[in-house]
Amino acid sequence: MIQKQPSCNDPFEIGMIPVATAVEQILSHTKALDGFCQLPLRDCLGRVLYQSVTSPINVPAHDNSAMDGFAMRSEDIPAQGEASLIPVGSALAGRPFEGECNEGECVRVMTGAIVPQGTDTVVIQEEIEQRDDGSVLIDHHNRQHQNIRFAGEDIKQGAVVLEAGHRISAADLGVLASLGVAELKVTRKPRVSFFSTGDELKSIGQSLNKGEIYDSNRYSLFGLLSQCHVDIIDMGVVRDDPQELQDALLQAAQHSDVILTSGGVSVGEADYIKPVLQSIGAMQFWKIAMKPGRPLTFGHIDNALLFGLPGNPVAVMVTFYQFVLPSLKKLSGQMYHPPRRFAARSESAIRKKPGRREYQRAVAQNDADGHLSVQLTGRQGSGILTSMKMANCFLVLDEESGAVEPGEEVMVEFFHDYF
Ligand code: AMP
Ligand code: MG
Repeated sequence: MIQKQPSCNDPFEIGMIPVATAVEQILSHTKALDGFCQLPLRDCLGRVLYQSVTSPINVPAHDNSAMDGFAMRSEDIPAQGEASLIPVGSALAGRPFEGECNEGECVRVMTGAIVPQGTDTVVIQEEIEQRDDGSVLIDHHNRQHQNIRFAGEDIKQGAVVLEAGHRISAADLGVLASLGVAELKVTRKPRVSFFSTGDELKSIGQSLNKGEIYDSNRYSLFGLLSQCHVDIIDMGVVRDDPQELQDALLQAAQHSDVILTSGGVSVGEADYIKPVLQSIGAMQFWKIAMKPGRPLTFGHIDNALLFGLPGNPVAVMVTFYQFVLPSLKKLSGQMYHPPRRFAARSESAIRKKPGRREYQRAVAQNDADGHLSVQLTGRQGSGILTSMKMANCFLVLDEESGAVEPGEEVMVEFFHDYF
């Protein structure tokens, strides 16, 4: 009988480490980069705050009217029946009433107008009666402070609006603009070099000979990295040649905070990444209890972190999301949170044995009852990149989980949520 070696067909194999352990190890070797830059507000979109932002002003800056109507002193609201008030002027947004409102008087106000001095209450115009002599009638159904937006009720001067380590979103740009903030200090972008390895790889624009394929990993990695706001250095394809690999890695280490390679980390005859890395850096070669993406190399060459990702196109994307992204976030000063998971009902039957965590490609959406339901995209081979193209999430089956029957609850992690 053949004495078989452990392989990625085994559900469990001695020496495999769980995904969470690999993430912990990676994060413990990742330190936030030094340095910051000060940029105009718009250029800060997607960047990470180096310092917390406190508000230089109250928002709103002044007590102002929330409605079109009449501002008055609450003392003039009658306890019973009606009262008549004399309008003494008007205030519009950006055009305040300069006078004072005394007993028995009121001021016409538009939404956003500063509440005139002396007044503390606004009655909406639909609830007063204008009389021919110019006076207005109000009744007792009004309360002090109604229809007024108070200074600082949204944001108080000096309050922390955004914490250091926060990544700036579109809404943040609006909030910061509302405070008059023109520039921010943001952390330095990590520089990421990446290349593909493999004698079979051609780049787009070249013609394919027998046995050759187009390099897709550099393009999916480019797309993923572009969403991370890092500086990208694309080093092309490197042949399965130890000297060429060593040269490329040493060159990358000089210019980068992170190096990503794909391919060549398995046990095949052309898998040279491991011996090369061992001779020029400090490396760990992990068999991770996951599918796809089992072999992963992690370590550093000088100050550059290195991820030797698998070659299979789906495995590249899965390992990027699970291992590279947390590290890039920490490098750029962001806090690490484990990916958010959502419970969904599986429409698919899924074969699985306990042992490894699986990241199956799936589409999650609400069913007719409004519940989240999830369906696999079809064949799940780690070379079938169209499974990623169709999917909007991973259906994650944890290590201990076995097969799934249709209707069972499973967990999903949405792609857009990783960033
Ligand atoms: P390897 O780990 O180098 O043996 O690669 C595993 C599989 O992934 C092989 O079928 C390779 O042809 C394929 N592969 C490796 N790198 C790439 C790439 N950059 N683009 C597309 N397929 C790749
Ligand atoms: Mg290869």
